[in-house]
Amino acid sequence: MQVDNKKTPTLYTKKEDCCGCYACENMCPVNAIKMEPDETGFMYPLINADICVGCGMCIKVCPIKNV
Ligand code: SF4
Ligand code: SF4
Repeated sequence: MQVDNKKTPTLYTKKEDCCGCYACENMCPVNAIKMEPDETGFMYPLINADICVGCGMCIKVCPIKNV
């Protein structure tokens, strides 16, 4: 399948932009997001750009980006 990776979103650039709520991981229709711990054990989302279809649902559901 041809995948357009250009639309893969950036979920956060600073750690303050993510509260680790798992909403994006739960919402992703193709399971492209996995939560991974940082050095302190706090969980942050990582997008697998090879799987992501660029639907934008993870951005829409994020409580930090939609306050
Ligand atoms: S843009 Fe869509 S497919 Fe890509 S990581 Fe977000 S929810 Fe998943
Ligand atoms: S939905 Fe937003 S705040 Fe929640 S884990 Fe994903 S990027 Fe972080």
